[in-house]
Amino acid sequence: MSNCIFCKIVAGEIPSVKLYEDELVFAFLDIAPINFGHVLVIPKEHHESASSIPEAVAGRMMKVGSRLGIALKRALDYDAYNLHLADGKAAGQVVMHAHLHVVPRGVDDDFRWNWRQLQYADGAAAELAGKVMEKFKLD
Ligand code: 5GP
Ligand code: ZN
Repeated sequence: MSNCIFCKIVAGEIPSVKLYEDELVFAFLDIAPINFGHVLVIPKEHHESASSIPEAVAGRMMKVGSRLGIALKRALDYDAYNLHLADGKAAGQVVMHAHLHVVPRGVDDDFRWNWRQLQYADGAAAELAGKVMEKFKLD
């Protein structure tokens, strides 16, 4: 995609601090990190949505992301990491080339995901699950 900043980063047309690259994926430091060391792992091929990424590439993203999470813990004394992927604008996706965030976390890092916990009415969870699975496709 000619107008995509992450495609330009993969091509070396925009500078980035690269941590890892292979034939399928590219990993680099986020320019505005939640914590220092925050990494983005992206497919080299342009995909706007994670849902269109081939399984082998998606698997590599997950493997590289989690191993980078471990490296961040060991190298920078973090306690944990979050893997995060926003798919679609309403989910917070700003750059429309799918990317997996690897966010290193410390017990006292003062960052909280804004996570709420709703409750299902009686029977609503099963009804919802049925509705979703009518539309579910794996291919
Ligand atoms: P999103 O909100 O789409 O999940 O995350 C996009 C991420 O890309 C943000 O965390 C943002 O800081 C990062 N980002 C945007 N532009 C650039 C860039 O040009 N270089 C790098 N390294 N990161 C970028
Ligand atoms: Zn792209």
